[in-house]
Amino acid sequence: MKITIFGTGYVGLVTGTCLADVGHDVMCVDVDSDKIARLKAGEIPIYEPGLESMVKHNVATGRLRFTTDAKEAVSFGVLQFIAVGTPPDEDGSADLKYVLAVADTIGEYMQEDKVVVDKSTVPVGTADKVKEAVGKRLASRGVKLGVEVCSNPEFLKEGAAIEDFTHGARIIVGTDSDRVKRLMRECYAPYIRLQEKLMFMDVRAAELTKYAANAMLATKISFMNEIANLAERLGADVEQVRRGIGSDPRIGYHFIYPGCGYGGSCFPKDVQALERTARDVSYDAELLAAVESVNNRQKQTLFTKLANAFDGGLKGRTIALWGLSFKPNTDDMRDAPSRTLMEALWEAGASVQAYDPEAMKECRRLYGERDDLVLAGDRVQAVKGADALVICTEWKEFRSLDFAWLKGQLSMPVIVDGRNLYDPESVREAGLMYYAVGRGDSL
Ligand code: NAD
Repeated sequence: MKITIFGTGYVGLVTGTCLADVGHDVMCVDVDSDKIARLKAGEIPIYEPGLESMVKHNVATGRLRFTTDAKEAVSFGVLQFIAVGTPPDEDGSADLKYVLAVADTIGEYMQEDKVVVDKSTVPVGTADKVKEAVGKRLASRGVKLGVEVCSNPEFLKEGAAIEDFTHGARIIVGTDSDRVKRLMRECYAPYIRLQEKLMFMDVRAAELTKYAANAMLATKISFMNEIANLAERLGADVEQVRRGIGSDPRIGYHFIYPGCGYGGSCFPKDVQALERTARDVSYDAELLAAVESVNNRQKQTLFTKLANAFDGGLKGRTIALWGLSFKPNTDDMRDAPSRTLMEALWEAGASVQAYDPEAMKECRRLYGERDDLVLAGDRVQAVKGADALVICTEWKEFRSLDFAWLKGQLSMPVIVDGRNLYDPESVREAGLMYYAVGRGDSL
């Protein structure tokens, strides 16, 4: 099957590569010519485990190709996937300008009937807008062709994107067209041999499903952070509470880790966009607003704990920071808690010595060269000469630590652990002050 994918970001590139890997003919198109040039040269612009070899293999077989030529791309695929970004607008709603620009491009170049697949996360009603935009462009050309638009939201997680795409819990397709159902079944047939997981539903239900899923997951995180903050003030250990509630199958263990707040390109913007959508239909989504504000507050906690540990005197201090990406196994720093912390530290006159296994390049791209930011070669270098250590991301390599050695490195024996990686007793036995999230200390 011939498939076109607009957008070669985390979602577009993974979707295109995985679909090529199961035998489809895929053309990926992007307006970013630098990105396409790098992809053509076999260089992967993002870090995603397993992706590089898969891209190379499928390019070599001729099933995966990259272009900036939108005309060529539109004529290529029966299915035209839209996987471009939907960043938050000034008021928090999803900005559809990239999605609608693609719709316009499809309308401009299509010479035969097409099926457009909305893979980007888009508010309820967007499929209608996309159809309208394509139709408008067709009308301006004086051409009459058929276009059908379906919703096929993506549920992959960065860091496990290939596994999620190929073994996801479900594949959602919102459409009422039998032809579209047939084509989408053909597209995803290789993934549903083992188990039927293709779920057809109304377009609007499919669009809302994506937001509902992300809002639910964000709610679990904010809920647990709320409990952690309470535990901290009540002298209880939230890790024990977490195990206690997770054992109830109605609650479960997934997504109830307390920490320094959720980040990334999806939860913050999707919760905000859904709240905005609610406002548009005159509904006050109180729970969503609370989920967001709890998270914003939580992202400040690392700084607050540090400031308390130093009695507010952070000026001139050097803070070692382990983990920059918003979660492990990705280089993505969009809305990462590390950014909230670094920016607050700089504001307070402190310097940062940071290390992350994958996000160093991205950090340099975001903040450039500055005197108060040293990007260290490894975790050991990051703590050399530092006053205290903060952990922002739970990369595997941070999980075990020689506390006695660390104590010898830091001028103040302080660890602020935003991911609750260590056993508080062992850390304290080594003579370090340990400030985690919800673990019985009241900082
Ligand atoms: P991204 O920012 O990594 O990539 C978007 C790409 O689209 C960029 O390379 C950009 O140059 C390209 N683009 C913009 N306009 C274009 C156009 N007119 N034609 C062709 N290419 C164009 O974004 P992403 O993280 O892959 O997210 C894409 C969508 O998928 C968003 O709606 C997001 O909410 C959703 N989503 C993301 C994830 C995730 O984990 N990143 C997971 C599920 C869903």
